[in-house]
Amino acid sequence: RTLQVDLGERSYPIYIGGGLLAETGEYFERHNLAKKSPLLIVTDEHVGPLYLSKLETSLQNSGYRTISKVVKAGEKSKSLEVFEEIMTTAIEGGLDRHSVVIALGGGVVGDLAGFVAASYMRGVKFVQIPTTILAHDSSVGGKVAVNHRLAKNMIGAFHQPEMVLYDVDTLQTLPERDVRSGLSEMIKHGLIWDKSFTDWCRDQSDKLLDLDPESLVYGLTLGCSIKAQVVSTDEREHGLRAILNLGHTLGHALEATGGYGQFLHGEAISIGMVAAAKIAVNRGRDQSIYLVTKDLFERFGLPTTIPSQMNEDDIIAAMMHDKKFKENQIIYVLPISIGEVEIVNDVTADDVRHVIQELKEEGQ
Ligand code: NAD
Ligand code: ZN
Repeated sequence: RTLQVDLGERSYPIYIGGGLLAETGEYFERHNLAKKSPLLIVTDEHVGPLYLSKLETSLQNSGYRTISKVVKAGEKSKSLEVFEEIMTTAIEGGLDRHSVVIALGGGVVGDLAGFVAASYMRGVKFVQIPTTILAHDSSVGGKVAVNHRLAKNMIGAFHQPEMVLYDVDTLQTLPERDVRSGLSEMIKHGLIWDKSFTDWCRDQSDKLLDLDPESLVYGLTLGCSIKAQVVSTDEREHGLRAILNLGHTLGHALEATGGYGQFLHGEAISIGMVAAAKIAVNRGRDQSIYLVTKDLFERFGLPTTIPSQMNEDDIIAAMMHDKKFKENQIIYVLPISIGEVEIVNDVTADDVRHVIQELKEEGQ
């Protein structure tokens, strides 16, 4: 299947299906990507041994020269230190303005390699080859970044890829915890945009968790298309795009407070989305919003409460560093009903503190 992200001259296709990795060279030729300049593939130590040689072979068979950089797996690689290491590889490998940087991996590799592509010689072409479920979200939309110790995604850019090549066969080797984490972001796309997609996700929870190929292709296609529609309307997040941040204000703070090791991204935003539902209910929305949201994430084995040993003040402090915090006001995304959200700016730190306490009690 092919989807198009409409962004004027920065528009690009998302190809979703099986067996795409082995056809990468042909896709590169079809997109007229230069053969004279070396390509840089960035991947991590889990994905590299599984899929790097298949990708290199396909590109080399089409006449491309490749160099590759394998980074440590995990969120800690989204750092300026690792960014600099990749820059060293790029310079030593003779990458030039016509080179393409390829991200082969999940959201960590995508965000990191994308920021390299955005910065190297003030920007070179970028191709995303996502290998996680979560990356259906991160590979679309052009946000690329590394973390700062104090706050997530603090150093970054907007840099749209030339294309996204989503070979769903690669998902079969994903660890179970990453399957759940990725599905969290898929469910988010239902919660912000489409009640019927939310219902479908709930009905298909067993098949999705079992990595049933047909369910995966459908769910990922819908997730990508919702993301693409939102991003096409508002590429640089002046308005609508902020709805994609459902669950992320608190989620990012939980990730930072947990030292980027305690929670996976999808786990943190699962808690964040349940918290947003609770805040909405505390502000007068129907109680069912919270119950349905909590039940949905529980079905997928995702966390919906906050560990009691986590300190409210630390979480709030991390939230204050977030980009969504402007002049002491938090831009917060809250559900109106299942499948529809609103962006508000009058949620206070105390409201969030209160809900953190409630979610800690729920976990007792
Ligand atoms: P990840 O890249 O760390 O991948 C998860 C784990 O799975 C890693 O250990 C990885 O090595 C392993 N893995 C990846 N593909 C595999 C495969 N096919 N088989 C076996 N193992 C595999 O994490 P993620 O969950 O994909 O992405 C999370 C990141 O994405 C976070 O940093 C988050 O901030 C970012 N993100 C960015 C955006 C955006 O718009 N740019 C959106 C959502 C999330
Ligand atoms: Zn996210």
